[in-house]
Amino acid sequence: MAKTMDEIVAHCKNTGFIFAGSEIYGGLANSWDYGPLGVELKNNIKKLWWEKFVQRRENSYGIDCAILMNPRVWEASGHVASFSDPLVDCKECKARFRADNLISDFSKGEVNADLLTKEEMSDYLEKNHVPCPICKKSNFTPIREFNLLFQTHRGVTKESGLDIYLRPETAQGEYVNFLNVQRTMRAKLPFGIGQIGKAFRNEITPGNFTFRQIEFEQMEYQWLCHEGQDEKYYEEFKKASKEFFLSMGIPEDKLRYHDHDKLAFYAKAACDLQYKFPFGWDEVNGIHNRTNYDLTRHQEFSGKSMEYLDPVTNEKFIPYIIENSYGLDRAILAVICNSYESEELKNGEVREVMHIIPKLAPFKVAVLPLVKKDLSDKAHEIFENLSKDFRVAYDETGSIGKRYRRQDQIGTPLCVTIDYETLETQTVTIRDRDSMKQDRIKISELKDYINNIINK
Ligand code: ATP
Repeated sequence: MAKTMDEIVAHCKNTGFIFAGSEIYGGLANSWDYGPLGVELKNNIKKLWWEKFVQRRENSYGIDCAILMNPRVWEASGHVASFSDPLVDCKECKARFRADNLISDFSKGEVNADLLTKEEMSDYLEKNHVPCPICKKSNFTPIREFNLLFQTHRGVTKESGLDIYLRPETAQGEYVNFLNVQRTMRAKLPFGIGQIGKAFRNEITPGNFTFRQIEFEQMEYQWLCHEGQDEKYYEEFKKASKEFFLSMGIPEDKLRYHDHDKLAFYAKAACDLQYKFPFGWDEVNGIHNRTNYDLTRHQEFSGKSMEYLDPVTNEKFIPYIIENSYGLDRAILAVICNSYESEELKNGEVREVMHIIPKLAPFKVAVLPLVKKDLSDKAHEIFENLSKDFRVAYDETGSIGKRYRRQDQIGTPLCVTIDYETLETQTVTIRDRDSMKQDRIKISELKDYINNIINK
């Protein structure tokens, strides 16, 4: 049985996946910390993404840019002028909402608020008596545009220094470095630049756990190509986005494309991939055909040429870009929501289990000595050996049944049990999380066995 959002949040907190940010001080709205299991899952997803986009694609290069950039970058990108959300406050209970979200939730997705102007959104809220999701009254303030950029200050005094921004996306670092990458890697079009890193947005509406945070991570991949080839690559990357989520064990019926009806004036096409979260369908990544807009703007604002010199035709031009923007935290949340369930067993018992695919599981295997007294030396020896290749859990407290359940709860695909026979025959039992079947195998075969499960 699938879990509710409240159960998922509680499970993440109780088992060590995700904690509320600065919890002992009452937290900070929309900020979360990854615990010992969450950080492993996060690293595994990053690795899978990096392998798919940077490592396995020809002509692909990774970078890692500074979070703080010259503020002109954000003027050129348009974020200073227009990176904002349409906000309303409930006059009754003072809760704050995005008007576009209120409308699409109220109309159950029938009305695409992206297509409405501020005035049309206000009209819709009023005419339809859209209720406040908290107090159920319908009495909102007029819509205000709220800029999401976090501003900070560089320098000794407020007057002498420079106002700068925490980056709201990682993409601009890839754009402003595109010629550095091209020159140093001697790259020819088409080629790709990928990076994974933190982004910051002053999100002040409720966040739905880690879905909407003020500090989050993006995995962004820019594909630079000739004009004329952009449409073909846009379709290719649209497909790749679904493939990536399928490769994380997400079933196809929980994924759908949402093509944008209203495009930014420079964009040729834009689409999100959505996942069916317990709170409804919502965006996990975006694919955009941005034409040559961003690089052209950076050329204008910096006064530096952003042109690529084609070595075959000797033509100079600004390349087109297909932007692939993945929210790492939303990918993690999708994997958690998809894998955590209460499973009714044949004997009527119910177990809590996370069916995370082995490649992404925080621990690949748990080493469990049946009894602590005589078997823990051997178990430690096996733990040390396996830890050279895998992230391994070790647990010697409680009944073996309870220890299996603990590992099921956190998604460990395999449990290795050391018993008295192990000392005599150099064999162990290995239990599969999903089938709960046990095999007896030689210790010398463990590494291959685990590798086979992970790479299945
Ligand atoms: P939304 O409409 O949900 O605010 P967006 O369209 O503004 O998202 P993009 O600017 O396209 O998002 O960012 C690319 C990706 O970064 C999103 O698909 C999402 O996965 C992730 N992302 C954006 N904002 C946040 C956030 N506040 N917290 C977590 N992830 C985010």
